[in-house]
Amino acid sequence: MKYLIPILFLILGNPSGFSQKITFRILQFNDIYETGPLSGGKEGGPARVAAYRQKLLKSGKPLFTVLPGDFLSPSVMNSVVYQDQKVKGRQMIELLNAMQVDLVTFGNHEFDLKETELQARINESQFAWISSNVYQKTPQGLKPFEKTDGLKSDPFLPCTTLVVKNKKGQELKVGFVGVTLSGFKPAYAEIKPFAEAAKTFVDTLKLRDQAQLILALSHLNIEEDRELAKAVPALKLIMGGHEHQAHTEMVGKTRIAKADANVRSIYLHSFSVRLPKTPDAPLKCKASSKLKYISDKLPEEPKTAAVDKKWKQIAFDSFRAQGFEPEKVIYKTETSLEGLEASVRNKPTNLGGMIAKAYQQAFPEAQAGLLNSGSIRIDDNISGDITEYDVLRILPFGGKVVMVELSGALLMDILKAGLLNQGSGGYLQYAGLKQEDQDWYIQQEKINPEKYYTVAMTDFLLTGQEKNLVYLKEGNPQIRRVVFPDPSDNTHPGRDVRFAVIRYFQDLNP
Ligand SMILES: [Zn+2]
Repeated sequence: MKYLIPILFLILGNPSGFSQKITFRILQFNDIYETGPLSGGKEGGPARVAAYRQKLLKSGKPLFTVLPGDFLSPSVMNSVVYQDQKVKGRQMIELLNAMQVDLVTFGNHEFDLKETELQARINESQFAWISSNVYQKTPQGLKPFEKTDGLKSDPFLPCTTLVVKNKKGQELKVGFVGVTLSGFKPAYAEIKPFAEAAKTFVDTLKLRDQAQLILALSHLNIEEDRELAKAVPALKLIMGGHEHQAHTEMVGKTRIAKADANVRSIYLHSFSVRLPKTPDAPLKCKASSKLKYISDKLPEEPKTAAVDKKWKQIAFDSFRAQGFEPEKVIYKTETSLEGLEASVRNKPTNLGGMIAKAYQQAFPEAQAGLLNSGSIRIDDNISGDITEYDVLRILPFGGKVVMVELSGALLMDILKAGLLNQGSGGYLQYAGLKQEDQDWYIQQEKINPEKYYTVAMTDFLLTGQEKNLVYLKEGNPQIRRVVFPDPSDNTHPGRDVRFAVIRYFQDLNP
């Protein structure tokens, strides 16, 4: 019986009541900040993805390339000045144009840029943007973001429909919505609740466009993706991101799929659809989603590789002008230094501890070192030859090291807040400190709330801007003294967190 039905189909041909197959594929990657490969060239590499895309195109099957957010920031490139302007994602737009991406939506990090910078990036892009829930604040009220060349403006659509045909000319209308997480407040944009927005525009796609299959680009955290799938069960597939780790699951009949950040992996979604002859009957849809790891086994597409090379050169020139020697090997190690966000935001790692130690050593008087894990942006594990450029990739924001003399009571509050911030950039990495059972120790000695201690940290931590640490500011009565690196001393390792780490790595060498 199991084999009888397919055999009958072979004899009788196309089952009555349905169209011939209409097939298409979607290549998805998400959360990309690097123009080149990672792990010493072994993993990732946008140029390899571009080559893979071209190979897929050769089969003749329709293919769409989508990117559901987070690509303009953060990056080591964003502190680079080129042609008198900060780069701020320009390298990524050039890269994505070369890769021939078709459709994107906003991630939260797009709003790290100033409004004028984001507008410039949008105008440079050669791909389409959709957003069902993000609007620009203007003096005239909220309006969609738009791409403009000064003469003509194209507002971003809240939803869009693509038409796919088979050889018989039968057409399938595939609708897309795009949503972004709303748990943050950019100065110049308003983000509306994602589920309601998706629901509204899925209805638009059905009624206005007669879309027969509807998919979402989402930049949400996984709990929110589940909420979206439950609220809008008409979505066949939610192509997401934000967590930086590959993940897939089914919620009802909706698949959620996220690839690893920086194209360590990508998703290839394949659809095969038969349309019913009577318009209101359900269609038959077979869908499969395959995660593909990107490695040095794949060739590179030359135009995309050239963009990577060009911007690395620009970055190196700029860093040289700032006093760095990007290609200089400063440390050799067989041990993998753990800089993946999933690690540094959740547990003490060897790399986090080394950076904290570097800050401590920038001030000989300091008894401990402390940093917010969110300042570590490399999202990579590195080993072998560590260069100054690696340090720049690890700590792209820069900033100074400061030494704070503070009470044991305040220090313990800070350390507890760090634990509370687990999973976010406010999780703290440290050196010279440890926790045993419920007690905290500094230099092996139990912290006394009444006593005062010296701790080196990034100047960012002392702004009170970190989550659950608003009180960590100069002027707090529990802070007795703050020591900044002497501005006239251009050899002080604390003048820039990167110099502190470079000095520390160099001192490790025999
Ligand atoms: Zn994100």
